[in-house]
Amino acid sequence: MSDAKIIDGKAFAAKLRGDIAAEVAKLKDAHGVTPGLAVILVGEDPASQVYVRNKGKQTIECGMNSYEHKLSADTSQEELLALIAKLNADPKVHGILCQLPVPKHIDDQAILAAIDPAKDVDGFHVVNAGALATGGEGFAPCTPYGCLMLLKDTLGDLSGLRAVVVGRSNIVGKPMAQLLLKESCTVTIAHSRTRDLPEEVRRADIVVAAVGRPNMIKGDWIAPGATVIDVGINRVEGAEGKMKLVGDVEFETASKIAGAITPVPGGVGPMTIACLLNNTLISACRANGLAVPNLGFDS
Ligand code: NAP
Repeated sequence: MSDAKIIDGKAFAAKLRGDIAAEVAKLKDAHGVTPGLAVILVGEDPASQVYVRNKGKQTIECGMNSYEHKLSADTSQEELLALIAKLNADPKVHGILCQLPVPKHIDDQAILAAIDPAKDVDGFHVVNAGALATGGEGFAPCTPYGCLMLLKDTLGDLSGLRAVVVGRSNIVGKPMAQLLLKESCTVTIAHSRTRDLPEEVRRADIVVAAVGRPNMIKGDWIAPGATVIDVGINRVEGAEGKMKLVGDVEFETASKIAGAITPVPGGVGPMTIACLLNNTLISACRANGLAVPNLGFDS
């Protein structure tokens, strides 16, 4: 049995960002359009601050405009909704994202619902979830969209393959299942009430793990040669008490049986921001009636 191919999401995301930058340069030259992404952060959650900083940096590196709105933790829901209304109406802003979680006194569903679906580059608005489910034009959530790019890059045509998605969250599991169904996979969605998870996983040609439990999916659950996409990001204590990141799949054992597997870190993680920038580019093209490039699926 040979070791799995390691799917290099870091390299894939870097290439995607390069392709996005090239398209942004063309948009500016030919049409005078600069895509703009507005990111709202309410409060001072340290992890969110890191994400927002990285988003801003990569947005600028791609040649786009980055508009950061950092609001204090005691910002009212009304104030936040007023800012979103302003950004919805601003033609320089093509993408709006409110970093979650928001403080407890704010209803996150009300915030997501207030973002214009045409600028909802996170793909969390019910209109975009509905478009994904019914085949309409919208935005797919960035993390599962990135997983799909990695899968198609690894396997080519996915039609007819058996896929199991472990996890049914609105931001990863459910949209991932919809994207795979669109590719004509036979899709199973597993979750905490699934009766025999190892058996469900064993039947799959494609395993997408989005659970949030370190090393939960064991190597001997994986069918020989299957492709494994590990979305999980779990912080655990490693050697000498140092914290390290691991996925939901036990990499050591799974990588000896799978045909291909994403590492954690360096697999799915870097794809999320790259896909966010891709959605912002798509939004800017649509807003200006221009052809939308099909980046991420053209290699
Ligand atoms: P979530 O909202 O907590 O959902 C977790 C899902 O896993 C739920 O559907 C839950 O089932 C299921 N689950 C929990 N325990 C299980 C078990 N023992 N067996 C089977 N299923 C089980 O999490 P999420 O937001 O989807 O995120 C999942 C993981 O992906 C996390 O580690 C997160 O950090 C990571 N993540 C990474 C990125 C990225 O790479 N950029 C982006 C988003 C998330 P029930 O519905 O039955 O409770």
